[in-house]
Amino acid sequence: MYEHKPLPFDKELDGISKKTNDIHHGKLYKGYVDKANEIGEKLEELRKDILDGKESGGNQTYSKLRALKQGETFAVNGVYLHEWFFGVLGGDGDHSKGPELADAIVKKWGSIEDFIKYFTETAMAARGWAILAWDPKAIELMQYNGDAHNQAVWGAMPVIALDVYEHAYFIDHGSDRKAYIQAFFKNLDWGAANEFFKKASVVNF
Ligand code: FE
Repeated sequence: MYEHKPLPFDKELDGISKKTNDIHHGKLYKGYVDKANEIGEKLEELRKDILDGKESGGNQTYSKLRALKQGETFAVNGVYLHEWFFGVLGGDGDHSKGPELADAIVKKWGSIEDFIKYFTETAMAARGWAILAWDPKAIELMQYNGDAHNQAVWGAMPVIALDVYEHAYFIDHGSDRKAYIQAFFKNLDWGAANEFFKKASVVNF
């Protein structure tokens, strides 16, 4: 079962309104949690019916199992990505609060400013998510985009996940996605991102 976790901050953000957060966290993220749980229950019923011979099993063109399995990864990725996204908001944008992460970023991209500049452009090129992730095979930070929820690199662990779906910014910034991305970095909790980085970066395959 997935849980609708509370927002990890209770302050007003600068450039991301309470209204946006209420809808984004209270309705949309909750919607993924509820659907992930509903799909989990339906899969459990279907599994029993398949084993009892009451239902046919998988078919890659169409089957109940295929439809639920497609929905499952979409919903669960929706839960995970939103938890990473909200998990790094509520800060003050001060990268000195995330020293290990800041060092790794500077080592790879030269400076925090250049990283933010590049990350902003990759987020402008995304249809859904822009993600700074620890890649345990490359054994370094990578920037990956995730169109919809399901385009992902298996095993790569998000450190900074940025939601660039329109619902994340249209109320506050209209179609000006760049202004929203600037607001995201202003409110970035580098300490929280640093904790994600420290946990993820011990993993290598
Ligand atoms: Fe979202």
